[in-house]
Amino acid sequence: MNQPVERESMEVDVLYVGAGPATLASALHLVNQVEAHNQRAAAEGGPPIEPPTVLIIEKSGAIGEHILSGAVMNPKGIAELVPDFTEQGFPTEYVCTKPMTYVFTRQRALKLPANLPNFRKRGYHVVSLSNVVKWLAERCEAAGIEIYPGFAGDEILTEGNRVIGVRIGDMGIGKDGQPKSNYQPGMDIHAKVTVIGEGVRGSLAKQLIQRFDLEGERPQVFETGVKEIWRVKPEKHQPGRVIHGMVLHELRHSFGGMWLYDMRDNLVSYGMVKALEAESPFHDPHLAAQKFKTHPFMRDLLDGAELIRYGAKTIPIGGLYAQPKLYVDGALLIGDAAGFCNAVKLAGIHLAIKSGMLAAEAIVDAVAKDDFTSTTLGGYAERYKKSWAYQEHYKDRNFHGAWSKGFAFFMLNEPFRMYLTDGRGLVDKLAFEAGHHATKKLAELPTDQRVKEEFTFDRVLTFDKETLVQYSGARHESDQPPHLVVSDTDICRDVCTEEYGNPCESFCPAAVYEMVADEENPGKKKLFIHHENCVHCKTCDIADPYQVITWTPPQGGEGPDYTQM
Ligand code: SF4
Repeated sequence: MNQPVERESMEVDVLYVGAGPATLASALHLVNQVEAHNQRAAAEGGPPIEPPTVLIIEKSGAIGEHILSGAVMNPKGIAELVPDFTEQGFPTEYVCTKPMTYVFTRQRALKLPANLPNFRKRGYHVVSLSNVVKWLAERCEAAGIEIYPGFAGDEILTEGNRVIGVRIGDMGIGKDGQPKSNYQPGMDIHAKVTVIGEGVRGSLAKQLIQRFDLEGERPQVFETGVKEIWRVKPEKHQPGRVIHGMVLHELRHSFGGMWLYDMRDNLVSYGMVKALEAESPFHDPHLAAQKFKTHPFMRDLLDGAELIRYGAKTIPIGGLYAQPKLYVDGALLIGDAAGFCNAVKLAGIHLAIKSGMLAAEAIVDAVAKDDFTSTTLGGYAERYKKSWAYQEHYKDRNFHGAWSKGFAFFMLNEPFRMYLTDGRGLVDKLAFEAGHHATKKLAELPTDQRVKEEFTFDRVLTFDKETLVQYSGARHESDQPPHLVVSDTDICRDVCTEEYGNPCESFCPAAVYEMVADEENPGKKKLFIHHENCVHCKTCDIADPYQVITWTPPQGGEGPDYTQM
């Protein structure tokens, strides 16, 4: 398209990008805080604040469709936001009464006599995060906050060094890049403050971090979590059970572990997380999750069970030193997009909610002063430093750095870090690199590791990616430009095949990338992208060793449907 495009625009005071726990909590807290301010002002004779107009845009077609998480939630965050959340019908599946830590060898399951400190989750709430955000969204709408689902933010709008809003992606462009009969240019939404809370490795957060050089002292690193929901036999169902497990033979490949907990209607949530910093280019979180289901412990649990849903997402695990700067003139970063996740405890929802609330308090100040520059919005970072969320991150600040130095150092460091030095360990602020640097070229690996592992899926307990995608609800119109943008596909064909064996075929949990015969170059393979399979996990944007893949949002309303997750 070469002609200039005429776009509609709209103005709001506060624009939230993404309808997740951080943004919804933030918007609700903002409205509550303005109301509280005005009540105080009326009582004390101070000036009231004009309630700001607040809009939340969300790329999924309905609230909760793109929301996937563990999720055994520390109730600390929601209890601060909505103190009577239980009375208000918060969608808790069960409260954890039986937290357990297991160590798994290939054949055995050893339950530890006492839980590891990080997995002491008695009293935590087992939830479907998708249901939680629906519950939060209802409260936001009741408070007068507008939510627009189906609006995918495509571009950060700036004026000089100030963020002024977001451009929504165009609809109705064909795969040839030309407008179709239903073409609709995306509108520009201008805001005094734009709050980016679009989840892990969000495309707008990535733009913002690059454009304003906001990266933390250490690069962010990630895990991919693969999650399945199964309906088990009633006698296998144990309400209140929460298991976290170390799978010893998997730890050799990369950091991670498994979880399992029970939900209503005889459902269990099973998942496997794997750090995206493995040496093997064939590192495959989906395969690790499938293989573990053949363990006697899982075979017994899933005997006669029915697979209900499948999904995947990435998790930021770099901790405090990998968090980006949280504010610029006109914009704030919250939730997973800003690395609010405690990887040690495998818990982030409470931190996401708290980050949103802290951001909201800074916005109230900004509205009161009519000053949306860093000077006032920076109050968010100051509040964070004084909060329990920072304390929690601070205590675990050196966890990932120690792990990145190898298992022996990690085991030596842990007692110092956990019990003797308030999280410091033997050395503070250990250096680590972005995960994709860990991937070795085939020539650097022992000969027996230069080929992909063979595994036969029985399609009863274990499933290939193509089958599992059908359980994710993923849907994308085929006639549109692929939203996975590979800047140089020649690299895939001419370099990567030789050097790394095309890791995209392994790390993507949804079989989006396939090397197919290249008819124009006999004997060679070229990349084919099954973009319609994408479950929006962002693994490819992170793990590709050449960093040529960019995940961008497809047309608004498309993607997975995690409403039963
Ligand atoms: Fe995840 Fe990328 Fe595969 Fe989509 S294409 S499912 S974002 S790895």
